[in-house]
Amino acid sequence: MMSYHVNEKGYYGNFGGAYIPEMLYPNIKELNEVYLEMIADPKFKEEYMGLLKDYVGRPSPLYLAERLSEKYGTTIYLKREDLNHTGAHKINNTVGQILLAERLGKKRIIAETGAGQHGVATATVCALKGLECIVYMGEVDIERQAPNVARMKMMGATVIPALSGSRTLKDATNEALRDWINNPADTHYIIGSVVGPHPYPDMVARFQSIISEETKWQLKEKTGKSNPDYVLACVGGGSNAMGMFYHFLDDDDVKLIAVEAAGKGVETGESAATTLLGKEGVLHGSRSIVMQTEDGQVVEPYSISAGLDYPGIGPQHAHLYASKRAEYVSITDDEAMQAGLQLAKLEGIIPAIESAHAFAYLDKMKFEGNETVVVCLSGRGDKDLDTYMKYFGL
Ligand SMILES: *Cc1c(COP(=O)(O)O)cnc(C)c1O
Repeated sequence: MMSYHVNEKGYYGNFGGAYIPEMLYPNIKELNEVYLEMIADPKFKEEYMGLLKDYVGRPSPLYLAERLSEKYGTTIYLKREDLNHTGAHKINNTVGQILLAERLGKKRIIAETGAGQHGVATATVCALKGLECIVYMGEVDIERQAPNVARMKMMGATVIPALSGSRTLKDATNEALRDWINNPADTHYIIGSVVGPHPYPDMVARFQSIISEETKWQLKEKTGKSNPDYVLACVGGGSNAMGMFYHFLDDDDVKLIAVEAAGKGVETGESAATTLLGKEGVLHGSRSIVMQTEDGQVVEPYSISAGLDYPGIGPQHAHLYASKRAEYVSITDDEAMQAGLQLAKLEGIIPAIESAHAFAYLDKMKFEGNETVVVCLSGRGDKDLDTYMKYFGL
């Protein structure tokens, strides 16, 4: 049987690995040596599950969306990651990594952030544990995402602007890596998605896998069957999707659909549809599929949703794509915005624009009789109200 998981060398098929400067070998080696053992340690598990329950508010509900189901003539459940503390799935990962950092004796936490969602989730757990927090963020993003910058500062984090390149996410990531190279002994770098050098993609996927773990028993409780016909999730780097897919990977009866951002359209040059437009390459420490020019320069991605405009995808996704285990599709800004409005009107739930991309794909699916679909509602739309207001003239 094909394996969809990482091998001992840190690869998923052709993808993955750890393409890092020599200065970081000791840090990555240390993580590799401890992460699996730590995650399996009953004491770690107890603390992690305890925080997910009492601090994050898990299990997140699996909600039968009746009016949405009626509209599409099939049965649709929403996995409500929007109801987590801080409003999205990202906290599942930062809670896991802060416990790991604590066990490694690290006193200083660094992170990169684009829209600020991962920065907020990191600042949150640093406040929780009383650890120093430094968040690198592109200067342009700092201007665009003022409320999230304020949240991070209020929780005691230092936000450092990345002033190089396009002054956005990839530049912030470079700055964070540079910091880690200069402070290897006392610092843990919390990466926000299933990207980066091995073991990050596997580690983050394991922390996010709580999403599908809960979905299985919740669905069983509600329908008598733990497997749906389809699961859908949006993909930026791919962490909510990986969490949603994880416990279904080896279940061939479950179709996995990953929805990327087509931006203004895949032919316009303003897009983030990585599997369609990208090719194999190395980005931020691993071999994956990357949007790049003929001579290998990373292309600046675009999406109306700040969480999806990343020029790559995690290596496990690249493998799921290449092996055809999951289907990768894309949705434009306009389609996502309409789907966000529709969910608000039909269910009284305003989704993050990222999550709205997954919902938009329901319009393009053909259901055979009454099938069961689970959509990962990765985050709530409060952070996107300004964008919704401008777009719909509200
Ligand atoms: C950050 C974010 C995403 C995209 O990140 P993934 O790693 O692909 O999950 C999706 N939805 C929300 C709400 C986010 O905040």
